Amino acid sequence: MPLVYQSTRDENNRVTASQAILQGLAQDGGLFTPIAMPAVSLDFDQLQQASYQEVARLVLGAFLDDFTPEEIDHCIRHAYDDKFDTPAIAEVVSVDGHYNLELFHGATIAFKDMALSILPHLLTTAAKKQGVTNKIVILTATSGDTGKAAMAGFEDVPGTEIIVFYPHGGVSKIQELQMTTQTGQNTHVVAIDGNFDDAQTNVKHMFNDVALREKMAARGLQFSSANSMNIGRLVPQIVYYVYAYAQLVKQGVVAAGDPINITVPTGNFGNILAAYYAKLIGLPVAKLICASNENKVLTDFFHSKTYDKKREFKVTTSPSMDILVSSNLERLIFHLVGNDASRTKALMEALVEKGEYSLLEGIDDSIFDLFEAGYADEQATATEIKRVYEQDHYVEDPHTAVASAVYVAYRTASQDQTPTVVASTASPYKFPRVTVEAVTGQAPADDFAAVDSLVELSGVAIPKAVQGLQDAPVRHETVVAAQDMQTEVERYLGI
Ligand SMILES: *Cc1c(COP(=O)(O)O)cnc(C)c1O
Repeated sequence: MPLVYQSTRDENNRVTASQAILQGLAQDGGLFTPIAMPAVSLDFDQLQQASYQEVARLVLGAFLDDFTPEEIDHCIRHAYDDKFDTPAIAEVVSVDGHYNLELFHGATIAFKDMALSILPHLLTTAAKKQGVTNKIVILTATSGDTGKAAMAGFEDVPGTEIIVFYPHGGVSKIQELQMTTQTGQNTHVVAIDGNFDDAQTNVKHMFNDVALREKMAARGLQFSSANSMNIGRLVPQIVYYVYAYAQLVKQGVVAAGDPINITVPTGNFGNILAAYYAKLIGLPVAKLICASNENKVLTDFFHSKTYDKKREFKVTTSPSMDILVSSNLERLIFHLVGNDASRTKALMEALVEKGEYSLLEGIDDSIFDLFEAGYADEQATATEIKRVYEQDHYVEDPHTAVASAVYVAYRTASQDQTPTVVASTASPYKFPRVTVEAVTGQAPADDFAAVDSLVELSGVAIPKAVQGLQDAPVRHETVVAAQDMQTEVERYLGI
């Protein structure tokens, strides 16, 4: 019996892993979620010697159990190769009393590469398995990093088109150029006059639009999603937590079985949910620390058990976390209410209708005990970048700095000395102006002047992803109103 992936909003909507990956989002608006964890044997005496690819084979094989071992292997080989600038794929480095898990060694220097370099292969393999001959149209809302990482993964992959929406003015110059200079015959980038939540809401709306789906099908097209709502994004993210623990065993930081904490700078709640799943399959995790920026809706949720999105949206220096509706939290909610789809659906409807919901009774409180939550405001984030630099000559990007600031505050308050992994989600080269200003106190003239300063400050060479960006031709210049996103999709696809 293959593992069951069930929609969080309909207990009768149950599919296998490959079907879930192909659909992306459930048509009822829910998210496909495993209702039981697969058995995975985590033998760290052995895993400490394993390569990233070997750990991936173990974890992906268990979760994506209707793929053959050969199919899994094919996907891993095409994903985790020399697109990454280190053979380790992810690095675990000691920084100021914690361990930064560097997830930014891929093609676009943000952690999204970890999953998006394999998703296109999982998706096209799944389509073949399911006998699908339609062209797959990937529709993606991005707060800055997903879009580029998804296009890098899908560029010129036969049988696919990818359309990316990002908030105009809501991303860094480097992020914007990375997207607007994207090559590939099947890539389309659109800026919207609106924020990330507007982009995400309209993408979800298009997915759930039956008339649009029928119109697409008549032309041999179907949607799928590269957003972290796709289980094909989430499962590859479990891998690096297992890998990081194995590295800590190898480095002698912990003995196999000793607990660690994991701190994650959180936006859409995908990365930290993967850490939760790593715990559920047996990774010894004591605390999961959910770090937010000034858009601290999750901090408030974990403290009050009420999710309240009715607040001002703030544009911060950690834009990939500027989110008020964290889509993947729906999966945690589903588990919190005992995998009850009708209750989850009612809560999600309340969020749309009233802007909030509460979980005051009938929930699994052990989940709330596992999570700690905190936030770092803009000042605290900049201060943390400078502090870490002065301690260790290591430059953290603003997202990582949010996490490390929240972790240090937690450690100080709790006196918890458990070895802690901080998910380091972007290279400082992706946000050079902010990081250089935080360290030096002086605003660089522009992103590219900042890149030059960063070389001097950090001693880390300029990554391939940034070299040449300044002179690359801009290929995508469309800007539309948020409510015109669907019109733009129809125009691009010619439907
Ligand atoms: C996407 C992103 C995050 C947030 O991750 P979620 O899985 O959405 O919680 C944090 N940092 C960076 C750099 C990102 O790109």
